Amino acid sequence: MRFSAWQVLKEGLTGNRGWGAHWRDPEPKPAYDVIIIGGGGHGLATAYYLAKEHGITNVAVLEKGYIGGGNVGRNTTIVRANYGLPGNSEFYSHSLKLWEGLEADLNYNVMHSQRGIINLFHSDGARDAAARRGNAMINQGDDAVLLDREGVRAMLPFLDYDNIRFPVYGGLYHARGGTARHDAVAWGFARGADRRGVDLIQNCEVTGIDIEQGRVTGVQTTRGAIKAKKVAMVAAGRSGQVAAMAGMRLPIESHILQAFVTEGLKPCLDTVVTFGMGHFYISQSDKGGLVFGGDLDFYASYAARGNLPQAEHVMEAAMTLMPMIGKARVLRSWGGIMDMSPDGSPIIDTTHIDGLFLNCGWCYGGFKAVPGSGHVTAHLIATGRPHAAATKYRLDRFATGIGLMDEEGTGSQHNLH
Ligand SMILES: Cc1cc2nc3c(=O)[nH]c(=O)nc-3n(C[C@H](O)[C@H](O)[C@H](O)COP(=O)(O)OP(=O)(O)OC[C@H]3O[C@@H](n4cnc5c(N)ncnc54)[C@H](O)[C@@H]3O)c2cc1C
Repeated sequence: MRFSAWQVLKEGLTGNRGWGAHWRDPEPKPAYDVIIIGGGGHGLATAYYLAKEHGITNVAVLEKGYIGGGNVGRNTTIVRANYGLPGNSEFYSHSLKLWEGLEADLNYNVMHSQRGIINLFHSDGARDAAARRGNAMINQGDDAVLLDREGVRAMLPFLDYDNIRFPVYGGLYHARGGTARHDAVAWGFARGADRRGVDLIQNCEVTGIDIEQGRVTGVQTTRGAIKAKKVAMVAAGRSGQVAAMAGMRLPIESHILQAFVTEGLKPCLDTVVTFGMGHFYISQSDKGGLVFGGDLDFYASYAARGNLPQAEHVMEAAMTLMPMIGKARVLRSWGGIMDMSPDGSPIIDTTHIDGLFLNCGWCYGGFKAVPGSGHVTAHLIATGRPHAAATKYRLDRFATGIGLMDEEGTGSQHNLH
């Protein structure tokens, strides 16, 4: 069924009995052309673009839990293209352009809202860095405006501008940044892939990767063995475990990142704000909750729940930046397993095993990357060559040291920044 205003009207007048399931629940077939391990945003988007752009539809996405149960449904929903380094710059620009046409493309309301994002700075040095980043964004063809303190105050009058340690000097404004409803992105890509013939197999954990004479031949799963000509590992926080099934040791550490949401409030924050000194970011959801987060929990873990010291740290950052938040009550918090790479940038590459592909290392930035990542990973799987927007996401940069993209300037210990 195609969603449209006419369909909503018709269903509204006929008791809403015509809405079907968004996707089928098929049994796994014995063999596929392509298997994608992981039904998160990146796996689903890869399947969608494989079918849509390359006509490859004999594809299965194998998900050990349920669609949307991973980080794609746990993030703070920020979408932006304000990266400064070659490699990241063109990739995130590519992804944002896909976001801008995504709802029409998927025929699905992912609630993409370009409400703008302001990255605050609190020193002269940070202003210089913001100006450099803004110039890089403009050179890439994206938008950036350097706001002074009064420019920020006009948009966000409730911040603590004269905080003794971190007075607000200004901000880098990226008008095309914003948010999207995270679950809807997973559902939209799932529906789009399913409609093109992709099998989405939930409750199907991959437990082994079959390799014969240097070539991948299929996977072992909790629902039996499935053969495949090509297999893509797109398992985000579990990438290290999945790649180990193919004998690979990845330069990835899995860490927990928490997020928080307050009770619903009247509209008070109509843009996204990031506070670099406290590593804190916040927006207001369409339901009214203030959605915010901060740093990793800083120890490797596969438990999708967070610790209290980090919750306290995030609350402190919130109070430092915008004391009015102290009046809001936190409704709930949750955690997700983040695949942290040493330079804070992703990996989208072939591997030393024929037919086996790797997509991981998304760190804090994987939600905004979903359409771009799916698009370029599908291109890589279909053609064997990296897409022009993702030529630098090679795995071997961590072995050679050539081509590292240390976007956040945190060195090779991104996870410890
Ligand atoms: C709290 C939090 C806030 C964040 N905020 C933002 C943000 O504001 N903006 C932004 O851009 N990014 C953000 N991120 C990062 C972003 O959410 C992730 O980088 C991105 O979602 C990861 O890709 P994914 O969607 O494919 O991952 P996931 O949804 O985690 O998908 C991976 C899937 O693989 C499955 N899987 C794992 N192992 C197996 C197996 N053996 N067999 C089968 N399936 C398997 C998992 O069950 C999972 O569903 C945030 C992350 C968190 C946790």
